[in-house]
Amino acid sequence: MYIIGLTGGIASGKSTVAALFEKKGITIIDTDQLARQLTDIGQDSLQKIALHFGKNILLPDGSLNRKLLRTIIFSDNTQRLWLEQLLHPLIRTEMEQQIHSAQSEYCITVIPLLFESTPNPIINRILVVDTTEELQLKRAQTRDNISLDEAKWILLSQAKREYRLANATDIIYNTGSIDTLKEDVEKLHQLYLSLASHHLK
Ligand code: ADP
Repeated sequence: MYIIGLTGGIASGKSTVAALFEKKGITIIDTDQLARQLTDIGQDSLQKIALHFGKNILLPDGSLNRKLLRTIIFSDNTQRLWLEQLLHPLIRTEMEQQIHSAQSEYCITVIPLLFESTPNPIINRILVVDTTEELQLKRAQTRDNISLDEAKWILLSQAKREYRLANATDIIYNTGSIDTLKEDVEKLHQLYLSLASHHLK
């Protein structure tokens, strides 16, 4: 299977771009979504998280207090590493299973922290969704209902824009309208179809 790793900073437009590829029938595997599923009520990982961080990490209904967890791991690297060591291998296994059963010509894995984690050898190309920091901050605040300071803090914790761009195979500049985005996705889709058709299955 030919695999595209889609990444970009917070609110750059990864989900929006992924949804446009999905409309073309391409299988999308979203690692954030997998992480959320793995920490749903009833999952082993949620029990391990509650044991490690204490019961306060759970909301009254027993589900994970994701906002609190995010605050903890953003301010404490050791805790972030602990959580990554728990979830990353599980996410990778689930991702590989979904890739294995994917029926589309190629597939896209959405990996927000692709440049912040260990390289994934199964990825053939890296597609970076890029936009200006002003737009990122504005869109993150509106979408997530967070303050400007919180948005800036998240941006600072992520890989630098220049680093992402320097290491990209393909780039989508998401600074214009959704219609422009659709045209860019269509061009890349044609390229990926052609590359995938020459790729050994
Ligand atoms: P990411 O998945 O990278 O965090 P999203 O795709 O969720 O980012 O986009 C962040 C927010 O910005 C969303 O509310 C989305 O609807 C909006 N958005 C993304 N691209 C555009 C665009 N080209 N024009 C207007 N709004 C956009």
